[in-house]
Amino acid sequence: MKHSTQLLLSAFASLYLASCSPEKSPPVTPSRTPVPPVKTTANTAYRTPATSGAAMRNPDVNMPSNFDKAGGISFSRVAAPGPYIAITFDDGPHASNTPRLLDILRARNVKATFYVIGRSVDMYPGIVRRTVAEGHEIGNHSYTHTKLSGLSNDRVISEMRKTEDAIFNASGVRPRTMRPPYGALTQSQRQMVHQTFGYPTILWDVDPLDWKRPGSSVVTSRILSGTKNGSIILVHDLHGSSVDAMPETLDGLLRKGFRFVTVSQLLAMAGTAQASAGSPAAGGLHGTGD
Ligand SMILES: [Zn+2]
Repeated sequence: MKHSTQLLLSAFASLYLASCSPEKSPPVTPSRTPVPPVKTTANTAYRTPATSGAAMRNPDVNMPSNFDKAGGISFSRVAAPGPYIAITFDDGPHASNTPRLLDILRARNVKATFYVIGRSVDMYPGIVRRTVAEGHEIGNHSYTHTKLSGLSNDRVISEMRKTEDAIFNASGVRPRTMRPPYGALTQSQRQMVHQTFGYPTILWDVDPLDWKRPGSSVVTSRILSGTKNGSIILVHDLHGSSVDAMPETLDGLLRKGFRFVTVSQLLAMAGTAQASAGSPAAGGLHGTGD
């Protein structure tokens, strides 16, 4: 019974994943590395292992993550007091791509923020547990990855609540920020979500359009050229080709002197946090592929 339910869920997920992006996507590249076993528990303090090989290492940063006084309910970038950036990964967890990404991040001591889909969290709770145990932040990206801007408040609340519960059940922590699928959430919905859950709406200012699969080197160069102090970078760990681009991308950003923090840490930086009321700016590299 359980097995057949899982099969059904997997089939459903495949259907769903194929329609996640506006464009038709080729099948997801299989993982090249075996999925490591999940051995963490919520109460075990995680220590980042030493880097082996040539990977650069993000410095340990002891940043507060309490952003309550940041002001504003919507952010696409933060006025950071230094070269601090947040890289975000949407639409996971994915059975093989997310663990592979976690290995890449761990080797560099890079902490990221994952905007997860509640339905996928229920399928792969162990991956979310590992993500939290390795020091990353989890954000709410809805339960079914539907366009929220056309839904009633009750349905938006249901999408948020089911995802928050799934994340809590998997990892023991609750998300503190949300990102609407496709960046689509009206201003009044943003206020309603903020009042109901305390979530600010997190958009982005760097979008390499990785979901269109332009190739790893293009993803890397778009991110390297677009990232500024306080940037919030949008990538999708759902896609193997996006994960393929991460070693070069992360090393390139570290070489440029950027320091990776989570979204909450970025928002908490001083009172200099800058609210952005609108959707991501039209044109340029901003798109709808989140
Ligand atoms: Zn998404």
